[in-house]
Amino acid sequence: MAIERTLSIIKPDAVRQNLTGQINSRFEDVGLRIIAQRRLSLSRQQAEGFYAVHKERSFFRDLCDFMCSGPIVVQILEGNNAIARNRELMGTTNPANAGEGTIRKDFGESVEANSVHGSDSPETADSEIAYFFSVIDITG
Ligand code: ADP
Ligand code: MG
Repeated sequence: MAIERTLSIIKPDAVRQNLTGQINSRFEDVGLRIIAQRRLSLSRQQAEGFYAVHKERSFFRDLCDFMCSGPIVVQILEGNNAIARNRELMGTTNPANAGEGTIRKDFGESVEANSVHGSDSPETADSEIAYFFSVIDITG
């Protein structure tokens, strides 16, 4: 298994509920290391840029409104198989269908307000990490 890096976002619903520490523990409990982390508020333009791949989808406008609705925490997780491992911890997009013990099952409010984002491939991980972090921010 390769050591990978993936971009994680703790979304506004989870930050509002003061769940940052509990969610971070889920990562650390399975050996994923939080090697960079920042709390910030997205502008509308920044949210649209991040989710540009979804711009034709019916939920795009609502999704961008939601992602701008409060602070988020962006972070880089590093570890064995980090991209898939994080997707497993997150659970499916819709919390109603997510497996027991996943972050979205335990904390997600709806298919939109589903608490976390995680990159879905090595290519998206690279581009999503670069969207939020400079080389100088990442100490490994
Ligand atoms: P994932 O975050 O599981 O990779 P997608 O990339 O398909 O899911 O969607 C990005 C985000 O858009 C989701 O995490 C969720 O916040 C939102 N979203 C996805 N599908 C819907 C939907 N049908 N209605 C509302 N919001 C949605
Ligand atoms: Mg996705």
